[in-house]
Amino acid sequence: MAQNKRETLVMKFGGTSVGTPEAIRFGLEIVRQAQKDWKHVVVVSSAFSQVTDALYQSAVQASRGNLTVFEQTYQMLKKRHFLAVEELINEDSLKLQTLSTVTELLTLFSSLVQAISVLGEASPRALDTVVSMGERLAVTVLAAAFSDAGIKTQAVDASQIIVTDNQFQNAAPLFDLTQAKVQIGLLPLLEAGFIPVVTGFLGATEEGIRTTLGRGGSDYSAAILGVVLEAGEVWIWTDVNGVMTADPRLARDAETIPVLSYREVSELAYFGAKVLHPKTIRPVVEAGIPLRVLNTFDRTKPGTLIQEQLSEKEIEISSNSTIIKAVTAIKGVQLITVEGRGMLGVPGVAARIFSAVATTGATVPLITEASSEQSLCFAVPVEMAACVIDVLEKTLADEIYRRNIDRVWASEEVVIVTAVCPHMRHKLGVAGKVFSALADHEVNVLAIAHGSSEVSISLVVATQDLETTIKALHGLTR
Ligand code: ASP
Ligand code: MG
Repeated sequence: MAQNKRETLVMKFGGTSVGTPEAIRFGLEIVRQAQKDWKHVVVVSSAFSQVTDALYQSAVQASRGNLTVFEQTYQMLKKRHFLAVEELINEDSLKLQTLSTVTELLTLFSSLVQAISVLGEASPRALDTVVSMGERLAVTVLAAAFSDAGIKTQAVDASQIIVTDNQFQNAAPLFDLTQAKVQIGLLPLLEAGFIPVVTGFLGATEEGIRTTLGRGGSDYSAAILGVVLEAGEVWIWTDVNGVMTADPRLARDAETIPVLSYREVSELAYFGAKVLHPKTIRPVVEAGIPLRVLNTFDRTKPGTLIQEQLSEKEIEISSNSTIIKAVTAIKGVQLITVEGRGMLGVPGVAARIFSAVATTGATVPLITEASSEQSLCFAVPVEMAACVIDVLEKTLADEIYRRNIDRVWASEEVVIVTAVCPHMRHKLGVAGKVFSALADHEVNVLAIAHGSSEVSISLVVATQDLETTIKALHGLTR
């Protein structure tokens, strides 16, 4: 794909950025501007806001014999997509044609949900086909609106170009096969001067069965296409001014972070910041493609640029001014502690513990071990805690019987607060300042993990201390 190297811009519009005719009008302006600056532009679109949730619920409730949610959803989809067509498309034949495609998709949605209700079962595979409707409807309307405004464009169903494995509802892309499909399905459009408007979130297996990339997966779609097309940049259009120093609901003075390294943003995404889908970051990092997060509703703001390395100047500016670059939190976890004097120096205990935890499917966002080797502690989501304890008690039954392990227990519900401190490696006293700030605010820290990536410190605190902790640490961002 060398002929297009770095000349392509991939832009993804999130649900709120396409959720109303007014938002789509902003999108139109954004695309017009991008066309002036880039040789090729590819648009990736989410479903209209809240549509994916409603589609899921329709299918799940139908499998239990309840069609009420489906009926409401059907009406909501019809109303919103028809309204957008009415408001955005002037040309009569294009309007009719678009309404007829929307109606076809709605009919298909209806048949699928009826089938699910008859079968009484919504398999992951069936769910993927149902939820794909949201993005398919969105690109139909979007592409028509762009066309009506004189932009040469075409709607593209990503099931034709993004090939995935068959892990329904959380599929992973197969890059080589995707590359081959993009060569046939997307490049000729770009070469002919079209702006493809591609469904986010979706793919298909090699056999052509629809899959989805996991909730929030449209960012991922944009990243995948960015990598395959060797794009110059990938832009994520959303409804906030980029990545913030903290959740503005918890710290009112939160600000946009102008530049972040891939590393820093990965820590943020992993530790709960909702701006970017965590999986998005990896492929673009590997390809060295800069990523921007921008606000559809406030285009005068520069947003956040995410890139491989910060420049010398950026490092200097931020290291002089700040201790912490951003603070984020994961709520709803419990700490599981395995303790016992007999764990001292026994090889393989940790390995057995985590192999056992892995069988439950629980994610483990944080691990710490006392240097005495007499206790090991890690976090799991609240809903997994009972199951994890159960599995551990079985796996470690021998050690427990011999009293090498005294107990396995779960804490109350707690939160993990992560501070991204990019200069920790070069600067003395970062951790000291973090803990002084917490002490000043009388926050009791239950556990600590210092990321081996050396860009973050994670602290576990009681749920009721969340806000105070965020405030205390956010004070160190300036
Ligand atoms: N529409 C999908 C979802 O809500 C994908 C996305 O918006 O990124 O999860
Ligand atoms: Mg999203």
